[in-house]
Order: sequence, then structure tokens, then C-alpha cells
Amino acid sequence: GRATKFGIILKGGEALEKAYRVTAVLFDKTGTLTVGKPMVTDIVLTSTIFREDEVVRLAASVEKGSEHPLARAIIERGQRAGTLAEPKNFQAVSGKGVTGEAEGKEVKIGNLTYMKELGVNTDAHQSELERLQGEAKTVVFVVINNQLAALIAMADTLKPDVKEAIDALKKMGKEIVMITGDNQKTADAIGRQIGIDRVFAEVLPQDKAKMVKKLQDEGKQVAMVGDGINDSPALAQANVGIAVGSGTDVAVQTGQVVLVKDDIRDVVTAIQLSGKTIRKVWQNL
Ligand code: ADP
Ligand code: MG
Repeated sequence: GRATKFGIILKGGEALEKAYRVTAVLFDKTGTLTVGKPMVTDIVLTSTIFREDEVVRLAASVEKGSEHPLARAIIERGQRAGTLAEPKNFQAVSGKGVTGEAEGKEVKIGNLTYMKELGVNTDAHQSELERLQGEAKTVVFVVINNQLAALIAMADTLKPDVKEAIDALKKMGKEIVMITGDNQKTADAIGRQIGIDRVFAEVLPQDKAKMVKKLQDEGKQVAMVGDGINDSPALAQANVGIAVGSGTDVAVQTGQVVLVKDDIRDVVTAIQLSGKTIRKVWQNL
């Protein structure tokens, strides 16, 4: 009842009994630590064949097939460059990017891993890529008709009070870990800003639960905090699964703890409530 007043829903007594024993808190990045609404910040053309407006329009048209937050950012930018076509033969490549056709052209958008898979050489743009990633930006490449056309950089904002919550958890002696499908450099840059101890980057959606298991195999009691966009299996694998309220229905179903207010500081409150409750139980016994 006390927890509910704080906007923390505890499903059954198990989470309440376990939360205070947690030794590592694993946070999903996108949508959990960050707002999950990235915006396009930089467009770097890499060929003289396609103009900026054409590149963003074609990229945005294909991204119409995707529901990824990065797709939303590219669509928003593309709409300013003209009318978007409906994509044909759209396909999402999990954790890597998307492919499809727009205005009769074949368009592929994705990360470095995807470019390597496609055999697209990006060597000439390595320093540009690293510069943008060092600024905590997520960078995707746009390939049109097998020609590397541009780099598009996007930045997401951290939720307020994230740093405060992490500092409080560290004072309680918890190890703080972040997990993301984003690249290592961008993830490290964000991790440094908020004092994350350990970063798992470039993790494919289907491997997120395995990383929880890895921490458990190291002897840790793991709380996983996520919004459920591809992290529900990880929430289920964790000793305590904590779903943030702005998340998906599936997260809210899977999580043993639900933070209604979408405030990361409530992770601290939930753990403190657990400790106090257990102490009271012992006292009463
Ligand atoms: P996260 O949830 O951490 O963003 P994902 O596995 O969803 O991780 O995505 C990992 C990476 O795959 C992204 O950082 C991006 O580089 C690439 N990617 C995924 N979806 C898209 C998309 N719709 N357009 C371009 N790139 C994408
Ligand atoms: Mg997420």
C-alpha cells in the first residue's frame, strides 16, 4: 500500500522480498534512461550523386516501414524535405537496420555491422563516425542503389534525475550496468555522462536476456529496468524485473515491479521500501 502511494506497483510479495538483495542494477538505455525520442542532429553526405534533400526523403520513406525510435527521427526530418513515398519490399534487419525501395531506388539504412554485412566500405568516414559517436550520438549509414550516400547522426536526451538515481544506487553499493543495441562508442559516451560502471553495447535484442544470465553467473542478484521494447525476456530472466510505466504493455505484464510515474528515482525507492519492509518483518518475528 505504501509503495502504491509512490506510484510503485509490486506484483506479489516476491519482488518486495528480493529487491533489497539486488547487487547489480541493469538499465536498458533507449526509452529507459533516455526519453527514447532521438532527433537528427547531423547529415554528412558521402557522395556527390545524391543531394541532402533526396537522401533524407528516400531514407525517411523507407523508415515508414519501421517503428524504431530512430525511424521516427528520420521520418520527421524527411518530411521537411518533401512528400514521403510508401516503401516497397520493406524489411527490418533486427539490431542492424532496415531495407526497402522508395521512388524506384533501393535504400538500406543501418549501423556499421550492417554495412560490413552488405560489403559497403566506410573506411573513409571512420574519423567522422568516431567524432559523432564521441558526442554520444547514434549514427546510421544510408546506402542508395549500392552507393554510400550519407551518415545520419541522431541524439536522444537523458531523462531528468537519471544521474541522481544512479548516484543514490551507487551509495547503496549497487553495481550499475547499462545494456543497449547501440554501438560501443556512443554507449560509452552516455555511460560516462551518468556514471555507469559497466556498459554492454551492440547487444542484439534476442541476446539481452543472455547478458542478465551472464551477470547472474558472476554471482550477482540482478534487477533489470526496461521499457519492454525488445527487453521483456531480460525482465523475465532478472531476479527482479522492473518495468517503467511509459513502456509497452508487455513490459508491464512481465515486470514484477512497475514504475507508474516513469521516474528512474523510483528504482531507489522500491529497493529502499523492500529493505525496510523485510527489516520490519524480522523485527515482528
Ligand atoms: P536499441 O533498442 O538499444 O536502440 P536496437 O537493437 O533496436 O537497439 O538497435 C540497434 C541498432 O540497430 C541501432 O542503434 C541502429 O544502429 C540500428 N537500427 C535498428 N533499427 C533501425 C532503423 N529503423 N533504422 C536505422 N537503423 C536501425
Ligand atoms: Mg528500450
